[in-house]
Order: sequence, then C-alpha cells, then structure tokens
Amino acid sequence: MKSNRIVILGAGESGVGAAQLAVQQGFEVLISEAGVIKPAFKERIEQLGLPYEEGGHTWETIFESAEVIKSPGIPDQIPLIRKLQEAGIPVISEIEFAARFTRAKLIGITGSNGKTTTTLLIYHLLRTAGLDVELAGNVGPGFARRLAESDHDYFVLELSSFQLDGIQDFKPDIALLLNITPDHLDRYDKDVRKYGRAKLRIGMNQSESDFFLFRADDPLTAELLTEGERTGKKIPIHPNSEGELLVDGRGYDLRQSSLRGKHNRSNAAFAVQTARLLGIDPEVILAGLKTFKNAPHRLEQVGWKDEVEFINDSKATNVDAVFYALDAMEKPVIWIAGGTDKGNDYGPIQELVQTKVKALICLGIDNRKLRESFRNLEQITETQSVEEAIQLALGYADAGDVVLLSPACASFDLFKNYEDRGDQFRQAVINRIKN
Ligand code: ADP
Repeated sequence: MKSNRIVILGAGESGVGAAQLAVQQGFEVLISEAGVIKPAFKERIEQLGLPYEEGGHTWETIFESAEVIKSPGIPDQIPLIRKLQEAGIPVISEIEFAARFTRAKLIGITGSNGKTTTTLLIYHLLRTAGLDVELAGNVGPGFARRLAESDHDYFVLELSSFQLDGIQDFKPDIALLLNITPDHLDRYDKDVRKYGRAKLRIGMNQSESDFFLFRADDPLTAELLTEGERTGKKIPIHPNSEGELLVDGRGYDLRQSSLRGKHNRSNAAFAVQTARLLGIDPEVILAGLKTFKNAPHRLEQVGWKDEVEFINDSKATNVDAVFYALDAMEKPVIWIAGGTDKGNDYGPIQELVQTKVKALICLGIDNRKLRESFRNLEQITETQSVEEAIQLALGYADAGDVVLLSPACASFDLFKNYEDRGDQFRQAVINRIKN
C-alpha cells in the first residue's frame, strides 16, 4: 500500500475538487471514472494537470492506495466498493476528506427538503453580519474545491444523505437536520429508517460544545435520536405557525421577506437559530431576512398573464415538497405535475388537492398514477409540452387564480433535469406574457 496515494472514484464536482485539494496537500492522486468524463470536468482536470483514467477502473492501482474518495453518486453495493471494504481500505466522501484541511467553523445542513433554501439563507445572514463565510456542498462548487481555492472562518455546507454515508470523523460545529420524509428510498432498501439514520450521521461525531438542531415535531427524528448516545447539544426547532416567527423569545417578521409558506417558516427558524448561536444581532438577522433572495425553482414567482399568477416550483420532486407548496397557496390552483415517479404515495396531499386544486395538468410521459390518484378532480388532462401546459392552464384559469408547476416527480422523462424543466416553464410563461 502506498500511504501517500489517494484514488478518487468519479470525475464529477466532488471528485475533481477532492483531487485538486489532495494534490495541493501533497498526495499522489488518480481520478478514476467508470464512464465517460463530462467535457466541462475533463477540461478542468486537464487544466489542473490531474492524473486520470476513464472508461473503467484499474483495480491494482486502486488497491494500492491509502484511502479512496468516492463520489456520492456511486452506490456502496457495487463490487469495487465491497472489495475495498473487505480489504480494509477506507472509502470516504469528499466532505470527510476536505474537513481535515480547514480551520473554519462548519455549519452542516441536511434533511429531505429545504436544504438549499436554508443553506443559502444562513450564508446570507452570516454575510449580512459581515462574517468571512463561504458556501459549499450540494449547492454550487463542492467543499474540497472551495477549500482548495481558499479557507474561511465559516463554511455553510449543504449535505445529502449520500455524502453523509461516506463520513467517519466529520463533524459540523452546528448540525441541522431539517426533516425526514421519504425520498431516495431506492438507495436505502425502501426503508425510511435506514435513510433517516444516514441523515442523523450529521451529528454522530459531535462533542459537547457542538449544536444539533432538529424539528421538534418530526416523529421519525425523535425515534431515531433515541437509538444511540449523542453528545452534541440538542436544540429542538418548533416554529410557531402564525404571526412573527419566534426564536429564543424574540419575534421576526417574515412578511417583509420573500419566504412564503409554512415550510419556509421552518427553514427560517433553523437559520435564525443558527445565526443566534453564532452571536449575530437580531437586528442584523432581520435586515438579512428582508434582503434574502432564494434560488430559482423553489416557489419562484415568474409572472402574471391576464391576472393569473405563475409559480415555478420545479424543485418540488417529492410529495412532501408539493404538500407545502399547495399549503402556501392562497388562491385557486391550476396544478401542473408529473414526470418520473419515485414510488410516490399521494395520500398525504389528497385533502389539500381536493380543497385547493381546480384543475390538474399532467406533464409527463406516463401519467397513469397521477390520473388515477386524483380521478375525483373535475378537470384533469395531460400533455408532454410545456407550452401546451401553459395554454391549457390559461384555459382553466380565471382572473385571480394561480398556475403552479410543482411536479412531485423527477424530470428525466421529458427534461434534462429540474432546472431545465423550470427554465422552460419560466421562458414559456414570459413568451406568453409578451404576446
Ligand atoms: P433541497 O435542497 O433539500 O432539495 P430546496 O430548498 O431546494 O430543498 O427545496 C426543494 C423543494 O422543497 C422546493 O419545492 C421547496 O419549495 C420545498 N421545500 C423547501 N423547504 C421545505 C421544507 N422545510 N419542508 C418541505 N418542503 C420544503
């Protein structure tokens, strides 16, 4: 075994970033990609002069390395990973690796929904307070890449359960578990507890001086928290449902912010509590809440046509996200949904759909499950074109209604990804507004 060699499996954002950081730290590195490396990453690899192979792995080289850094997209069950584990070679995630080389205080955010929103909001609040903070993880560039560029006083990290699967000693100073609702169960033997346990790993290495923030009313979190010893200081988050948002006895008026809906009250409560733990003044937090602008595709208001409002919630790729989107709507809804079904159970939104939705437009290739689940709706139709969906929506809508794209499904049947779906929707709405 070569104690100085690190092999990186997967040439994506996390892999290339990890390689960059590893070279900087004096390791001998090989990036190994089973498939074809995407042109953008290949360009970066070549620019940085990083050694790589593609179209397969050279097992010999890999088995000689001290550690293997695995992209979160590679499942644990593949033969190479199983054999590495049998051989006692640590297989870690980019996050685990990068955390060894920073002096920053780490704020880690995980959960089924709300990670990006909460990560961006915390980042924004810390910046508003004038702190030296950087953003990394699932949003934008990975942690290793950011760190290879420069270190900071604070890193705000968005962490998926796949990234947390690959940690050993990683520990955020403040860990946030926003919620646990079924998603990605295909990777966890269809077992929501296994998926939940992966998320709880975010706090497993914490010490007494660290903080673990979680939703007080999430039954699965409560159950899983009883399973083992945890030393991080537990802070339950339970946002009050009306009026000013109360955190540590102080009120924050969210009406002056762009954060809509109960889910965003919860995200804001987590973010405000985090900012308070870091000693940020409530007045500064209020100023930050007012100026915060969320990423696109999350209840994003795209425009108005004939007094009908259009909202792009393309990032809502599971039923829970749609629940909160519908719950946040105060007007009759023309709902555009559909795509690649991830084993959805529409039970939890039946009542909301019956009370709020006037018409359902299925935007997908196979819409049988949606049609069947909501057959009680009077108006239901389907299409595979975004333009036609908008045309149909305008046909159903009266002045004062809202057209909501909140698909509950992945986008890969008709689109490249959720961004592509949301961008096409926004563009088509803008085109209609102009004409
Ligand atoms: P993530 O990064 O976890 O996917 P996002 O902030 O990107 O979370 O939001 C994804 C989707 O979930 C959006 O449709 C958003 O409106 C919805 N959402 C955001 N926060 C929550 C929450 N706390 N609970 C449920 N749904 C949420």
